[in-house]
Amino acid sequence: MKDEHITPIKVLDDSVRTQIAAGQVVERPLSVLKELLENALDAGASEITIRLRKGGLEEIQVTDNGCGIPSEQLLLAVAPHATSKISSLADLSSVASFGFRGEALASIRAAAALELQSRVAVEKVGVQLSADSDTTEPVGMSPGTRVTVRDLFRSHPARKKFLRTATVEYRHCLQYVEQLAITQPAVTFKLFHNDKLILNCPTTTQLKRIEQVWGESHADTALPLLHNSGLYTFAGMICKPETARESSAYQVLTINNRLVKHPKIATQIKQAFGTLLAVKKHPSFVLSLQLPYELVDINVDPRKETVTLAEEKLVLEQLHAATQSLLAAHNLSFGAENSVRYPYSMDMGLAEYFHTQTKLWSVKDLQDEQILQIDNVYLFAQSEKGVLVVDQHAAHESILYAQLTDAWKAEQENPQPQQLAQPIELQLTQSELAVIEEHSTTLTELGIVFEQNQNTLTLTALPAYLQTADIHALIQELITALQSEQQNYTSEIVHRTLAYVACRAAIKAGEALTQTERINLLQKLEETDNTYTCPHGRPVAVLLSSQQLAQLFERE
Ligand code: ADP
Ligand code: MG
Repeated sequence: MKDEHITPIKVLDDSVRTQIAAGQVVERPLSVLKELLENALDAGASEITIRLRKGGLEEIQVTDNGCGIPSEQLLLAVAPHATSKISSLADLSSVASFGFRGEALASIRAAAALELQSRVAVEKVGVQLSADSDTTEPVGMSPGTRVTVRDLFRSHPARKKFLRTATVEYRHCLQYVEQLAITQPAVTFKLFHNDKLILNCPTTTQLKRIEQVWGESHADTALPLLHNSGLYTFAGMICKPETARESSAYQVLTINNRLVKHPKIATQIKQAFGTLLAVKKHPSFVLSLQLPYELVDINVDPRKETVTLAEEKLVLEQLHAATQSLLAAHNLSFGAENSVRYPYSMDMGLAEYFHTQTKLWSVKDLQDEQILQIDNVYLFAQSEKGVLVVDQHAAHESILYAQLTDAWKAEQENPQPQQLAQPIELQLTQSELAVIEEHSTTLTELGIVFEQNQNTLTLTALPAYLQTADIHALIQELITALQSEQQNYTSEIVHRTLAYVACRAAIKAGEALTQTERINLLQKLEETDNTYTCPHGRPVAVLLSSQQLAQLFERE
């Protein structure tokens, strides 16, 4: 390396260090909210009120009735690496508090306007530190702490660009508050968004809290789990398969009381369900793992969202066994339901080989009326060009999808929503309603007319093409589609909805078809345009040409 590249190494000053820490801790409104809520819980609060404005981008305020901060320590609370929760390295291996890094308030203060007010019960007045001020002043307030954060990322314009819209940030915050509230049923939580009361969860039991937040359907299907191996305790609720969703929003996990994400644990529980769940579904659960503190490393992530477990394999095995025996005890054992799966028994090389041939065939060439049905899934027909193999579900699905797309286009040109004689009422959670609110134009685009009142979504009119659909399941599917952020384009969501309706209405793999039904299906497939692949992108039919047959048998 050349000399001019050598620059002296310096120790960064405090303000630069804090800015760097802020970049790690404060990523979006949710990360600020999370830190403030952890502080409130660490302070032993039994009542926590959250106020958000514009999804937290404009303002995040958390008020608690916890122990408060003594007036002489208020400035210390916002100093970097200042914490009351640990004092030595040894403490780090036995932290029971949520916070321990002592950098949250300092980091937030570096990235936004932070106002701190606090009062300990023994003092008559509280003390406050305003944003941009280095001195404190007295303030009248009840015991506890109130932290107000405004104008997030005012000093990080680059970060601001990466933030999503207020509705998206709001949804993330709401989902987190819901999950946290579920883990802390003894604490009263209130959440206001733009002054509107969204969540009101008075102190209650675990099961009632699930009902308060996720609604009756989850509470009614929750199976209580308790497993104690001496070293580990797993406790909580695992919901029956009918509440499984395509998103993981209904999976709440705490490890030593800390709300964390641990994909391997979620996967393990899902696997214990076996064939009770469709491939894409995730079971709903609320699970609390208590493990010896020395087996859990919480200091692996600045945002404290993940932990690593020392005896992970053992924990996973026990969890799998505990879940399976819980399900078995409720007659929900592995494979108990005859859920049919695609028997993808075809050797992959051959399947891929077929795949490349998808565009070559035409049913027009069908010669013989004898159509074989193999495994109650595949129809084999002889054509002039070879053997045509059709996946009956995929074929029916793409026919219906094409019909629904036409019906939807017709509806767009000439909307004819049909009033429902009996409006359909759906009980949804606040985060589900938030999704609906965020994407109300998509629903309108689909021709769905609805009203929203508190936890109830009332459908008053539906377009003709949706009249026969299982509307409950459809709305759930829509919410899942809308929740996954990649699909923010209305056209994609419409596509997914129509695909869902088509999939549900289509004959399944595993259904035996009569000779006439087989012929009807193939004829209809021939009349329909663009049916080379099903709406999910899998091939509908493949042609095994006479030439390929000859090659397979080395006749050429
Ligand atoms: P940490 O939580 O890691 O200690 P923070 O920066 O979040 O670091 O908070 C610094 C300190 O401020 C805490 O250790 C605690 O003593 C005090 N504090 C912060 N929020 C509250 C609160 N809501 N109630 C009481 N004390 C608080
Ligand atoms: Mg903290």
